[in-house]
Amino acid sequence: FQVNEEMVLVSNGADHVLNLIGQAFINEGDEVITGEPTFVTYETATRIMGGSIIKVPLNNFKFDLTAIAKKISDKTKLIFICNPNNPTGTIVTDVQVNNFLEKVPDNCVVVFDEAYAEYVQEKNYPQTIKYIREGKNVILVRTFSKIYGLAGLRVGYAVGPKHLMDILRKVVEPFSTNK
Ligand SMILES: *Cc1c(COP(=O)(O)O)cnc(C)c1O
Repeated sequence: FQVNEEMVLVSNGADHVLNLIGQAFINEGDEVITGEPTFVTYETATRIMGGSIIKVPLNNFKFDLTAIAKKISDKTKLIFICNPNNPTGTIVTDVQVNNFLEKVPDNCVVVFDEAYAEYVQEKNYPQTIKYIREGKNVILVRTFSKIYGLAGLRVGYAVGPKHLMDILRKVVEPFSTNK
C-alpha cells in the first residue's frame, strides 16, 4: 500500500482486528450499522461493547449503501462494509462507495472488511486506500487466511489514517502477533 508504518496494525487475524476496532470505538449506547446477512464478527464486536447493531438487508445479494446511509443517526459510530461480502461474494463498486462516503458524517468510522479482496476481478472494485491516504475516517481490514491459506497462522491487519490507528493501538494487548 506504500503507507507509513504507523498507518498499519498487524494482529491475530482479521477477526481480532475487527474486535479491536470495536473496543477502540464503541461505547455503551452507540449504534453500529452493517448489512444482513454478512460476517458475524461485526455484531459480536458491537454487542460485547454494549453497542446496538443495526442490520440493513442486502439488496439483490449486495450491501445496500443507500439504505445504510439512511440509517445513520447521531449515535452511529461505526459502519462495517464487508466487500466482497461473506457469504454472498458480491461487491459494492467504487462509484457507490464514493457516493456513500460523501453522506457519512465526520464522527463516524467506516470499516471495509476486505478479507477476499485479492480474489476480486471487477475493475470497479473500490481502492479504499485512496480514502485512507486522504485522511478520511476509513479503515480497511485484510487477512492472510484466505488468499494465502494461512488461517492457522492468525495474521490479519488494518490500514487506516494515523489519527484512527493511534486510537486502535491503545487497545492492543502486549502479546498479540509478533511483528
Ligand atoms: C475469514 C474472514 C475474516 C477473519 O479472518 P481471520 O484473519 O482468519 O480472522 C474476517 N472477515 C471476513 C469477511 C472473513 O471471511
